[in-house]
Amino acid sequence: MAVIREVKPAREMRRIGSHSHIRGLGLDEKGRAKFIADGMVGQVEAREAAGIVVQMIKEGRMAGRGVLIVGPSGTGKTAIAVGIAKELGEDTPFVAMSGSEIYSSELKKTEVLMQAIRKAIGVRIKVHKDVYEGVVTRIRIAYVKHPFNPYVRVPSEAEITLETRDDSRTLRVGEEVAAQLIQLRVRKGDVIWIDAETGEVYKVGRACEKESKRYDVSYFRCVDIPDGPVRKRKEIVHTLTLHDLDVAYAAQRTAFATLLGMPATREIPSEVRQRVDEEVKKMINEGRAELVPGVLFIDDAHMLDIEAFSFLTRAMESELAPILVLATNRGVTKIRGTDIESPHGIPLDLLDRLLIIKTRPYKAEEIREILRIRADEEEIPLTEEALEELTKLGVERSLRYAVQLMEPARIIAEREGRNKVTAEDVKKAAEYFVDVRESIRYIRELEEEFLK
Ligand code: ATP
Repeated sequence: MAVIREVKPAREMRRIGSHSHIRGLGLDEKGRAKFIADGMVGQVEAREAAGIVVQMIKEGRMAGRGVLIVGPSGTGKTAIAVGIAKELGEDTPFVAMSGSEIYSSELKKTEVLMQAIRKAIGVRIKVHKDVYEGVVTRIRIAYVKHPFNPYVRVPSEAEITLETRDDSRTLRVGEEVAAQLIQLRVRKGDVIWIDAETGEVYKVGRACEKESKRYDVSYFRCVDIPDGPVRKRKEIVHTLTLHDLDVAYAAQRTAFATLLGMPATREIPSEVRQRVDEEVKKMINEGRAELVPGVLFIDDAHMLDIEAFSFLTRAMESELAPILVLATNRGVTKIRGTDIESPHGIPLDLLDRLLIIKTRPYKAEEIREILRIRADEEEIPLTEEALEELTKLGVERSLRYAVQLMEPARIIAEREGRNKVTAEDVKKAAEYFVDVRESIRYIRELEEEFLK
């Protein structure tokens, strides 16, 4: 029997994306970067350059062009690409992949890229639905053990109290809605809609009155507390991707093909994509849908090969293209699949179409503030001394290493009965877990030992 308990941030189920704190590029009206804003810290020139790219995109002047971000690893290349997508709108699709992902054993390289491109193009569809609307004043979620995996706990049901100015109602919802409440990180003070039929949850903003000080208000669209009664008819905007539509349409056909004894494939047939494109164009012409081109970010772009590059170059010219952002930390190197050397391992004809942005290694004060934001995001309370210790590790080793040590340090602190992580806890965590440089040095030392 599941026991319902008050929701403190439930660690068991939370999986926070490492860039979840980024809400934009943090620029002022003149396009100048504020040192800390929208979850972004420092890396000022690159952010300002990205801001110009955003304006070019909005003015429709990026067609056929892309962006290349070059800089050492861990200098926020992904973070900046996320910032670009956020600046284009909250529901702008963002797809991140590594160049090496095209070498899958099941799919052709161009199919992997095609799927990524179509995941990065959104279709905004308007529908009218009955929803429960209100400010969340209480939320309780019950967990049970996963049916197969005892190490994982999954939500089984939830109770949520929604209040309007003159009404209050407690809804009891099932596991799917509970999972969505967790995924959307619904908290007290959020204004939400729950679809009365399907139970789908939409976080529409935060109640304007209290609490907004703790949060950066630009993140939560601030909305008025709704008047009662709770159940209302609302226009809901769904953003699906072209890939979602491809999959749904292909699944229909697969079911049919299976009946006829034809083999199923994970590859999406080109007729399916054509049909989806036709349907989407029809909906757009009828004013029922809008296209939302997103950002396709490919890290380690030097891992792509000549075939992939020519596919991407052609794709950039199509009318249904996302914004392509490549990133690399390589200088002159061979283009994969050829013997030709080229800057960043990218063919010159593609390179000619890319605006290049540099990211530089972080200074200590940038690292400190990024760590502070991440600790807040992961709800790990740090003393100032612990933050200093992590900053030191971030400078001497890497930012990524310092970020990774936060959770082990929290556990060490908890075992000692402390609810705040101290500098000692961080040092202990750094003894248990080494960074990549140290792990390589260790293996090399052992190898030398054996060769003696
Ligand atoms: P790269 O793509 O250059 O390797 P990245 O963007 O993947 O870097 P990480 O090295 O993973 O960044 O950075 C660790 C964490 O720091 C991530 O959570 C990332 O979002 C965050 N981060 C990096 N740069 C910034 C920045 N300028 N402002 C805020 N957060 C940042």
